[in-house]
Amino acid sequence: MHSVHDLDRHQKELFGSTEANLKNAMLTFDDVLLVPQYSKVESRSDVNLSQNLDSNIKLKIPIISSPMDTITETEMVCAMSDMGGLGVIHRYLPLMKQAEIAFHCHKRGVKNIAAAIGVTCDYLTRAEALVNIGKANILCLDVAHGHHILMERALKSLKDIYGKSVHLMAGNIATLEGFNDLADWGADSVRCGIGGGSICSTRIQTGHGVPGLATILECAQSDRDAKIIIDGGIKNSGDIVKALGAGADFVMLGSLVAGTTESSGQIITYTDGSRRKAYRGMASEKAQKAWRGSSSAPEGVATAVPYQGSVKNIIKDLAGGIKSGCSYSGAFNLKQLRANAVFCRQSAAGRYESSAHILAKE
Ligand code: IMP
Repeated sequence: MHSVHDLDRHQKELFGSTEANLKNAMLTFDDVLLVPQYSKVESRSDVNLSQNLDSNIKLKIPIISSPMDTITETEMVCAMSDMGGLGVIHRYLPLMKQAEIAFHCHKRGVKNIAAAIGVTCDYLTRAEALVNIGKANILCLDVAHGHHILMERALKSLKDIYGKSVHLMAGNIATLEGFNDLADWGADSVRCGIGGGSICSTRIQTGHGVPGLATILECAQSDRDAKIIIDGGIKNSGDIVKALGAGADFVMLGSLVAGTTESSGQIITYTDGSRRKAYRGMASEKAQKAWRGSSSAPEGVATAVPYQGSVKNIIKDLAGGIKSGCSYSGAFNLKQLRANAVFCRQSAAGRYESSAHILAKE
């Protein structure tokens, strides 16, 4: 019989699973697996996925939809809210139109109204309209490179104006220094992730970025109270479980919810009757031309993804997958998942084995 200590040592030797070890290797989701742990979870319904965004805002699931023009407008906000998550209204539309959408979601019983703003030009007026007319209680300072002097000025100004009455979400960043700075400038939650999004070409265009899992492991070392929202590159519920196990508090989704009835992307019907929905990076040529009339140095692509029906079914499946993941790690809630998570690395052959590889034979 192995003693608990023997097992612990054995596991560490076998899997080399300390956070530092994983972090130094700059790994991402497909490079690792979570090692199953002894579990007392008898039913998935015993697992609680709730998470606090701050002391006033509690979500039932740790899932947030992205502020992109093909993802989050009224219908997505309402559906995400119904499912216990959060939708952030994008900012690529006239100020009053965005405030109107926010107000409309209010009227539909959405408890937490989140809306994106920039960090220059009309951002203070937009913030005022969103809070006063749209009744937003969460403002998301939404820029590609958030560890920036313009973000510092904007966060400090907004904190001065709104204090604790409005939750400030800000990003994106990819380093511990960036995370701590945004938290110190006033961010209550920080979107973490540069270059990993499914529609993103930032790493190709600029050579910059950090793999998603490494970003989480780095930011999770922070001693600040701000919450970690991993944003970009989440492909399935397994990635979400790994992200939460590594230290993320929330995940932000684009592509996983892009093909749904409630996403704001245009529906495209083909002659054979099949349907897809438009999904595009906000820095893609198409999106830039649509919201500012011209484009330069695109850092994103535009595409269309298969139509999948209601986002509620997608979110239900994702939540089910997260709960199963918690069970494999012996966790009744997300705090325990983080505490219990033991990662191992997998090889290219392991990645193949991890897929439903019989399908490769079809
Ligand atoms: P996905 O969930 O992998 O599809 O990634 C969505 C995330 O990609 C968004 O929440 C943004 O952080 C990011 N993003 C959106 N548009 C662009 C772009 O044009 N270039 C780079 N990143 C983008």
